[in-house]
Amino acid sequence: MKNPGTADFNRLSAIVQSADDAIISRDIKGTITSWNPSAEKIFGYSAAEARGKHISIIIPDEYSVEEETLIQKIRNGNPVKKYVAIRKRKDGTRFFCSHIIAPVKDANKKVIGASKIISDISNQKGFYAAIVNTSDDAICSKSLDGIITTWNFGAEKMFGYKEHEVLGKHVDMLIPASKMEEETEIRNKIRSGKRLAPFDTIRVRKDGSEVNISLTISPIYNREDEIIGASIIAKDISKRIEIEEKQLHYTEKLEELNKYRDDFIAMASHELRTPLTVLKVNLQLLEEIMEGEESAEFIFNSNKQVDKLTGLISHLLDVSAIQDGNVILNYENFDIRILLKEVVDAMQPSGKGHKIVMKKPNRKIIICADRIRIEHVINNLLLNAIKYSKDRKTILVETSMQDNWLQVSITDEGIGIPKKDLEKIFERFYRVPGMPSTYSGTGIGLFICSKVIRRHGGKIWAESTLGKGSTIYFRLPAGTDNCSEII
Ligand code: ADP
Repeated sequence: MKNPGTADFNRLSAIVQSADDAIISRDIKGTITSWNPSAEKIFGYSAAEARGKHISIIIPDEYSVEEETLIQKIRNGNPVKKYVAIRKRKDGTRFFCSHIIAPVKDANKKVIGASKIISDISNQKGFYAAIVNTSDDAICSKSLDGIITTWNFGAEKMFGYKEHEVLGKHVDMLIPASKMEEETEIRNKIRSGKRLAPFDTIRVRKDGSEVNISLTISPIYNREDEIIGASIIAKDISKRIEIEEKQLHYTEKLEELNKYRDDFIAMASHELRTPLTVLKVNLQLLEEIMEGEESAEFIFNSNKQVDKLTGLISHLLDVSAIQDGNVILNYENFDIRILLKEVVDAMQPSGKGHKIVMKKPNRKIIICADRIRIEHVINNLLLNAIKYSKDRKTILVETSMQDNWLQVSITDEGIGIPKKDLEKIFERFYRVPGMPSTYSGTGIGLFICSKVIRRHGGKIWAESTLGKGSTIYFRLPAGTDNCSEII
């Protein structure tokens, strides 16, 4: 007589060999013990490659703990049905699959491993179900009258309710009193077939705490194209809100600190001005009564330092005023060529041997601007051109008309400005890092220049080649229109 055990075994073996699903087994330690042809197809490992290897070859790292929890269940003799997870193929690609896992026992009924039937569900409807099930976002649906009809694991985690606690209940249980009106609006929109773009709101968890979420709600249609409910996707945005609140707090703090500093600068500048005026007057008196070349030189040098300090203080005062938007411009019509000539002529002797060359059109260029402030800008740009280039270099001051704009450029053959700093140099207190200490300064001048030019409706910018030189340009609206507007 034939042994029925062998016949059963052969039949089973044939099923395993021809099944569409991967059928594999592993021992308690996780070593793969069997691997059918479909497993070869699905995972890309041949049976010879897979057998004897650890099961982790098909399990993404983030699923390894979950796998061991399942095996623990199996050890206790409980089979696992329809477990959906992500697995990886030999080529590293990942896919969704559904598992049925059963314990493998020895003759003494001791669990010695597990057998698994694994179906690739990437191309099935179940694939979408798997996405919903494994999503961290809360995904649920409700009927038109607000009854919850589906509830994924993400919703369970976000709100603390299990599926059976919410199905058939009204969605109002998640809405705080303050947001009830919003819900009525949502319902009306859904009824009229509108999808609600993501919006931030608040919902209540089972434990009564509130959670900040971003909601996307879309209508659900039946086959007859009638709206029968809505799908809801909720993203937890608590972290984002926390960061935004922190940012707001720091911005407020920073503004407060800036204000303190500006107040201090304004106060200190006023206090410093008075003794400087006294010093200046005394120096003038000394100049009148002292005689001799040596004393004249001392007085000249002291006067120079007092002027420098006075200039610095008015810069500081300008910064505070500009910062507060308190700069009042005194507009007048003037020919910019004349102003440029005056500034250059006054500058020439202090140019330590620099040669200042001017290129300007023959005809007048009348602009309507604050003459004194524009003079300060030109002065500042020329002083920088001198300061940041060696003696006896040429500085070119060019004036031209570009459409209806007056354009002035000041080009030097100096140290140049790194590309990354070309815009930053117009920021308050910004100085190019790493400059030798011989180039003293405060980083205020260009900030004031840019504020003044922009207040006139103009533009200022820099171009430069490091080590070769820089050009600072500014543009102002030409013509007298500005003034006719003011009058
Ligand atoms: P500072 O008092 O430092 O000169 P500015 O606001 O006038 O302040 O200029 C800001 C920074 O821009 C300077 O510290 C310097 O690094 C750079 N800079 C300005 N003009 C020039 C120039 N002509 N050549 C090279 N670097 C310049």
